[in-house]
Amino acid sequence: AGRVRFENVRFGYEGEREILQGIDLDIPGGKTVAVVGPSGAGKSTLGRLLFRFYDVTDGRITIDGQDLRDVTQASLRAAIGIVPQDTVLFNDTIGYNIAYGREDASPDEVRAAARGASIAEFIEAQTDGYDTRVGERGLKLSGGEKQRVAIARTLLKDPPILILDEATSALDSRTEAAILDTLREIERGRTTIVIAHRLSTVVDADEIVVLDGGRAAERGTHAQLLRRD
Ligand code: ADP
Ligand code: ADP
Repeated sequence: AGRVRFENVRFGYEGEREILQGIDLDIPGGKTVAVVGPSGAGKSTLGRLLFRFYDVTDGRITIDGQDLRDVTQASLRAAIGIVPQDTVLFNDTIGYNIAYGREDASPDEVRAAARGASIAEFIEAQTDGYDTRVGERGLKLSGGEKQRVAIARTLLKDPPILILDEATSALDSRTEAAILDTLREIERGRTTIVIAHRLSTVVDADEIVVLDGGRAAERGTHAQLLRRD
């Protein structure tokens, strides 16, 4: 389950030129596809189309064979988790931020998600616990800690499909390496789209698609793409 297909997808933002000019992607359930390419190529837009922030102009996107237009917003939201480049936390407690979207979660589930995201130790040692408020007059979290909160939120949601949209791009290289390790673990068993700038960071993706000029300019595994250079 969780097979994602883009079939000849075309899209342009309203009143703008067409930025996606016939994109085909076929991601078998549980596999990882990385989308790389220059800034402005339309990488993030692919994620926004999958989440149906916008509808495709032509072509179609399916999940397990079902056209996105026939999937309810509620089940789409439940099916897809997004970890963005910069997570903005609510000015509320750490627990609230982790459980956002899963308000029914028990404290044990919240702690398990925090452990899975390797943020539990920080919360237990550096704060007054899950009720500590983030933000104003409260706790200030680093970029990496915020990303771990976003990862914990995703684990609690447990979606079959993940979009990692430059999830570590804003971090220093040591923090990036640590968070990439955590992301690799949460990717396991989920259909994942990894959006990145550079090939070097997506070595282990099942397929890499290089987006350029509105099309998939190249595709293959990391080794195959390197051989072609
Ligand atoms: P990438 O993720 O590859 O950097 P994006 O998908 O974010 O590229 O954006 C692709 C193009 O669409 C860019 O030229 C960008 O300026 C434009 N764009 C992005 N979002 C919008 C929007 N909401 N309205 C109009 N144009 C947009
Ligand atoms: P920048 O040059 O802006 O740092 P990179 O090309 O280094 O961008 O891209 C890093 C991006 O790659 C991060 O946003 C991260 O989310 C993504 N990434 C790479 N490999 C993986 C992976 N295996 N799992 C999750 N994310 C990954």
